Amino acid sequence: MQVELTPFTGNVAAKRRPDVVRFSDPVKTYRRAAIRIALACAAAMLPGAAPIRAGAAPPANADTANAKSNTIAARLLAGYPGIVTRVDATSVHFADGTTMPLDDGRGPKSFDAWLAAPDIDDMFALAYPAGTPATPPAKDADPGRARNAAFFEKVYGDCRKGNVPANLADVVWLPKKSGARIKATRINGVAQKLQAVSDALDALPAAFDVYLKPPAGTYNCRKIAGSTSASAHSYGIAIDIATARADYWRWSGGGTAGASGPIRYRNKIPPEIVAIFEQHGFIWGGRWHHYDTMHFEYRPELLMGEVENTHTAPPR
Ligand SMILES: [Zn+2]
Repeated sequence: MQVELTPFTGNVAAKRRPDVVRFSDPVKTYRRAAIRIALACAAAMLPGAAPIRAGAAPPANADTANAKSNTIAARLLAGYPGIVTRVDATSVHFADGTTMPLDDGRGPKSFDAWLAAPDIDDMFALAYPAGTPATPPAKDADPGRARNAAFFEKVYGDCRKGNVPANLADVVWLPKKSGARIKATRINGVAQKLQAVSDALDALPAAFDVYLKPPAGTYNCRKIAGSTSASAHSYGIAIDIATARADYWRWSGGGTAGASGPIRYRNKIPPEIVAIFEQHGFIWGGRWHHYDTMHFEYRPELLMGEVENTHTAPPR
């Protein structure tokens, strides 16, 4: 049995209302069960971790091997080592002794509410389809686009308070081909990961250069255009590669403010570039219905290597 992270499969509400993504209670309940199963994994991964509380043991007939690698707890612990120290059925525990709730208790959310104010649990609502061809995503399928601001501010800092820049480190972009100095946070090893991406991209043939240089930007303390949510660039975890071959949903002629037309998917970024980023823990904005094909951001919790991400589309 695979634990489903997507709420869309079999989601009757979404089928009836194709314009609204509903995050149904049964899905939340199902995911909550998956979190409980993950406690076994969390305890195994962390020496000295607190014991599983009574009543939280996985069901005897569960396919625990698959379930534990597919859980939110396992993903957070593996993606934020030394930062997230424990995840229980209700809370994420951090190394500084603080906790955050997994679920904000607000119940099912519309797509807009999910995007604007996701809880930590909501960030996993859609599986990220790593390693698959770049096909047009289904309506409102934006895996990774919802970010719980409190979580990311806890991990990387709040740029509005000025505590992100001190942790930015230099990354040499394409050492042989460019040599430009760009910035990424050293927290959680992001700058090191981006340097590894850069070194791998540097080995690609010259035909790829147009997609990669000059880089269009990394750290930037700003909101996402047209929203009140902090951009991933605000945390020093994101990069926009070159603009020359970039496509963006707001440029597509559909889905713009006041327009009701469908968003027309466009992408020119080669899969070789996407694969290198994904192999190092960066998700790609080209996998979003609201696409941004020059954008990559470090989201290891969505890219655990052993996880089979197969669900990308809501039902039609
Ligand atoms: Zn970007």
